Amino acid sequence: MRDACGLVVEAHRLVRSLIQPGITTGELDAAVVELYRRYDAEPLFLGVPCPAEGGPPFPAVTCISVNEEVVHGIPGRRKLVEGDIVSVDTGARLHGWCGDSAWTYPVGKVAADRQAILDAGEEVLMLAISEFGRRSRWSEVAGEMEAFALSRGYGVVRDFVGHAIGREMHEDPQVPNFVGDDMAEQDFLLQPGLVLAIEPMLNGGVDEVEVLPDGWTVVTEDRQPSVHFEHTVALTAEGPVILTAGVGAASP
Ligand code: MG
Ligand code: MG
Repeated sequence: MRDACGLVVEAHRLVRSLIQPGITTGELDAAVVELYRRYDAEPLFLGVPCPAEGGPPFPAVTCISVNEEVVHGIPGRRKLVEGDIVSVDTGARLHGWCGDSAWTYPVGKVAADRQAILDAGEEVLMLAISEFGRRSRWSEVAGEMEAFALSRGYGVVRDFVGHAIGREMHEDPQVPNFVGDDMAEQDFLLQPGLVLAIEPMLNGGVDEVEVLPDGWTVVTEDRQPSVHFEHTVALTAEGPVILTAGVGAASP
């Protein structure tokens, strides 16, 4: 999994180096297509069946979601502009194992309220990873994540959650960022060997989201901006190991 996750880190470094006003989301995706091709890696998002009836399979190797778009944005002709925040999510399988990571990047200089939600999103992910190594059940981690987000005044997206990951990208159990009504049945023990894609999504306003007519793009209901931060994390006897460490860091 380190190899697959290392390649996902590489994809993020590449995208991050390219993000600037004027580049299109399609150009960012094309760069990752080329990278995965070079490593003979399998892009995990390409061709995923549409959750909306009759919608097209996902056409890209990254999900690129700008501003009020939460997840599953389709890369295309949209040009990024100064002040945007852009969430890039990508996953790849290499040598039979999967990696998955998302990060929300600023485009140039962003407004203070946008920088604040970027900071909070990264902080809630790192909080979750540290709690993952200290707690005995996921519900305790999810409760801490939800409390942190609410204390900052952000909505926690409830329609999408993290997941275990291994030979497949989406494995059981589901990994929510909040404590829902069904948490008692969905809760699980945290023990070495578990590898999770932990991926909080925070909204600037309400937690409700809706899907655009393209069948994929998820946006906040109130069109306030949203952020998405995801690491693939292995729990070992020595504690959590972030397999996608380096995503979000400046290029070397
Ligand atoms: Mg992802
Ligand atoms: Mg994921």
